[in-house]
Amino acid sequence: MRPELMQYNFDWMMAKTLDAAARFPMGTSKETRLALNYMPYFQSIADTFYTAGDPGMQLLNLLSTYYKNILNAHKNGQKIAATTFCQSPAIFYALDVVPVTFEVLTALGGLVWKRGLFDYMDYCCEIGMTETSCSSQRGAMGAYLAGLGEEIDLVVCDTPGVCDTNANAFSFAAAYLDKPFFQLNYPSSLGDPRSEQYHLDDYKALISFLEEHTGKKMNYDRLATILTAVEEQDDLIAELEDMFMLEPVPMPPIFNLAMYTGRFTFCGHPAFTRLLKSMLEWARELAGQGRSGLKSGRENLRVYMCYIDHYTVDMNFWNYLDERGIANVGSILTRNFRDFNTYTREFEGVGYSLDVSSRDAMLNSIAQLNARLPMVRSIRGPYDQPNMWLEETLAIAKLCRAQCIIYNGTPGCRNTWGMVKPFAREIENQGYPVHIMYGDAFDDRVESWEATRERLDEFFQVRGLL
Ligand code: SF4
Repeated sequence: MRPELMQYNFDWMMAKTLDAAARFPMGTSKETRLALNYMPYFQSIADTFYTAGDPGMQLLNLLSTYYKNILNAHKNGQKIAATTFCQSPAIFYALDVVPVTFEVLTALGGLVWKRGLFDYMDYCCEIGMTETSCSSQRGAMGAYLAGLGEEIDLVVCDTPGVCDTNANAFSFAAAYLDKPFFQLNYPSSLGDPRSEQYHLDDYKALISFLEEHTGKKMNYDRLATILTAVEEQDDLIAELEDMFMLEPVPMPPIFNLAMYTGRFTFCGHPAFTRLLKSMLEWARELAGQGRSGLKSGRENLRVYMCYIDHYTVDMNFWNYLDERGIANVGSILTRNFRDFNTYTREFEGVGYSLDVSSRDAMLNSIAQLNARLPMVRSIRGPYDQPNMWLEETLAIAKLCRAQCIIYNGTPGCRNTWGMVKPFAREIENQGYPVHIMYGDAFDDRVESWEATRERLDEFFQVRGLL
């Protein structure tokens, strides 16, 4: 790690940056516009959030609150749990634990900090982690392993078997920091009672672990409040997800980021409900007028990202879609697979439901919700089996009338790289042009944004899409 980077505390720096950005537009819009000229470093990033109006501001506020919660956790007598985006934070909130979701913090750092999280990624390898591991954990994780963040108290992940590189990253962090570690297993199938019972029992063991290491008992009244909030959020999400089927899509690409970042950080929390309501109000208004949510107001192309989006430097990917008039109809991260969602009807038994009528019903609900998070849901085995990656991709692309499908991941993702070629071939056979991006969603050193952009442009041109 370069010595100068050791001078900054990562979570403090991000909290201050996002907090300042969230306060910045409190004056008149003219003041904000003129003031942006004095901050060239952040201009394009801040502008992307400000252009998204109230939802953009709600998102900034939510993100800054997330970091502030981490900074204040110990002062407030709360424990901090390092965890993954495949694990719902709702259970941590129910036990008054503050989650630190490495992948979300890596993506955010990449999007808003031009210097990038590259040194943190490398730091993980300097202290013994393999460099072929997924960059999504390594970014923020490197900062915490280097002591540049609040002290982690415990580590929880849920991807053994689903993603070796994810599970190993958390196991490495727990061993290196010498902290208690819990690996929740994943259900081998969804919607089958035996497997669901196994998962529920495992989930109960997770709760016992959290109770033991936090010294706090599960508060079932609080869990009921959280699940009731999730119910409301799921309703709002369902309507937003339906908006991806409209032509044109009445939402800017950044709404995708807001939907899943909000859920990965604040599921069941009022901050996420506020964000969803604000997005829905915006989207309903544009939908009522038949207008696109893109800056240009013209939708030229509809793209489905069959895996994840691109998170490096300056919000480049998001602005690129906006400038080219490309509607992003979602990714594996956007969908929550609630049982009443339109697309969920295509997959028998895959949706989850919520029930707060008893303690056991609540625990089963939250365990099943957890099992529908990305990767655990549809990348936990062969891509072409029922309800898995291929079926999910084709069904959603068809419902949302996507005109092409793009794969983007990280070179460390053996999970998807091991099957992406036959997966793409089968999708092409169904009539969808497919582009496989060779960059790294979190690390611009693998392929520069300029090269990524040119390859995207070339694909759209050669396939006659733009
Ligand atoms: S992107 Fe791939 S390697 Fe990274 S956590 Fe997800 S499945 Fe695992």
